[in-house]
Amino acid sequence: MVITDHAGKAGFCRDWMGDVISDAVAVLRPRNTAEVSMAVLACRDLGLSIIPQGGNTGLVLGGIPDHPSNQVILSLERMNRIRSIDIDDFSAVVDAGCVLATVKDAVAEQGMIFPLALGAQGSCQIGGNVSTNAGGLNVLRYGMTRDLVLGLEVVLPNGKVLEGLSSLRKDNRGIDLKQLFIGAEGMLGIVTGVSIKLMPAPDQIETALLGVGSLEAAVALYRRARRDCCDLMSAFEFMPPMALILAKEAMPDLDMPIAMDYPAYVLMEISASGLVDVGDLMQRFLTNVMEEGHVIDGVIASSSTQASNLWKIREGMVEGQALRGRHMRTDISVPLSRLSDFVAVAEEAVRAKLPECVAISYGHVGDGNVHLNVLPPMDASEADRTKQIDYAKKIVNEVVDMFQGSISAEHGIGRLKRDDFELRLQNTQRLLLHTLKNAIDPLQMFNPNSQISIAERDDASSV
Ligand SMILES: Cc1cc2nc3c(=O)[nH]c(=O)nc-3n(C[C@H](O)[C@H](O)[C@H](O)COP(=O)(O)OP(=O)(O)OC[C@H]3O[C@@H](n4cnc5c(N)ncnc54)[C@H](O)[C@@H]3O)c2cc1C
Repeated sequence: MVITDHAGKAGFCRDWMGDVISDAVAVLRPRNTAEVSMAVLACRDLGLSIIPQGGNTGLVLGGIPDHPSNQVILSLERMNRIRSIDIDDFSAVVDAGCVLATVKDAVAEQGMIFPLALGAQGSCQIGGNVSTNAGGLNVLRYGMTRDLVLGLEVVLPNGKVLEGLSSLRKDNRGIDLKQLFIGAEGMLGIVTGVSIKLMPAPDQIETALLGVGSLEAAVALYRRARRDCCDLMSAFEFMPPMALILAKEAMPDLDMPIAMDYPAYVLMEISASGLVDVGDLMQRFLTNVMEEGHVIDGVIASSSTQASNLWKIREGMVEGQALRGRHMRTDISVPLSRLSDFVAVAEEAVRAKLPECVAISYGHVGDGNVHLNVLPPMDASEADRTKQIDYAKKIVNEVVDMFQGSISAEHGIGRLKRDDFELRLQNTQRLLLHTLKNAIDPLQMFNPNSQISIAERDDASSV
């Protein structure tokens, strides 16, 4: 099915945050892999390039056109079939357009989990998760999407289909080609099917919100928890006190079960299936760390409703930032041992140069992943906002380089971070990337100008 009218295309042509509104020649909505393949060949004949799109929740402008006059969006949304669930193999095969939450619900009915968990799971698709190598809340226990993929089916720029929907856990027959497409953000192939790993669903989940003395104390607590909680931790998020204020702004009725002025907060979850007693483990762990002064105050959820209320603080904080208008978002990782120093130095640099803005840092402690966001004043003009956002990005990226960190821990590069990414590439990395792109997509049809720019791709002659 092809959409060409303006109203029909509109929803596909704006980014999640509504910061950028674009357009496209058309939106293609194939129903199966054969139709994707036909669409690719038709676009090749017409000289059109293709922007693959999943749930369009990506945060780096990878899924919407930048040259609307010769680009089509290929939406996977109608390819939403759960092809098979095999609990004996601990695996499932799904269409790439399946919404993540739908996959999670379907496997839950069979007593299993697919552990990828992120705020956008009600909209993002498995194909998008694979293409961005999404991270999320449970990485510390289960890894990134790359660690959860067993096989892929991919349509290539020449229309041919790479059929690799294996459920083998071990397969060392040469180079693992599926890895080329994980995190490639649609620039090498269109993912149409995914074979995923499943785990037994935990029947015990303990969630706690803790007030601690500093981010440094949160990192120390994480190290301790990894040892004491037998590697059963499935989430360990840190938030500043500002997070609770922002969550309240977004959800005024939200219950705050803890004082709102501790220097830092940790949202921690441990979970397991089987014979361990997770409730007892959490109680003993918290008793010890509170007696030793590592935790000032804390609440343990006594029901799944209370647990989901605690998670609402984490989700509400993100919504609260959006309510304060367009702002600078980052997705940084640094070595865990340098996390608290990084946040202190970067926030201080922002405060010194942009005193009118608010810097807020939160993230996934265990992965050394911090989202250091900078919020301009609510009454800032659009022009001032743009200046402040650009300047804040420059300030923070300089500190990231100082700490030898990554400017994209989990969101990818897209078009938003392309220039900053290219600036930091070593020559050999750059040549290798361009050689790969030119070999697989010589006509530059798939997601041009995302991750790396076209002009530079042409320079790749030898590695
Ligand atoms: C509220 C919120 C919370 C988020 N939290 C997290 C988080 O914790 N961790 C995290 O990693 N990300 C997070 N994200 C970012 C986003 O949800 C992920 O990047 C997600 O994996 C994108 O999936 P999608 O289906 O929406 O992809 P899209 O946004 O549609 O596309 C993303 C990129 O992948 C390409 N693509 C999409 N589908 C395919 C396909 N089938 N084949 C080839 N290329 C394709 C697109 O061209 C684009 O370059 C969050 C986003 C929001 C809005």
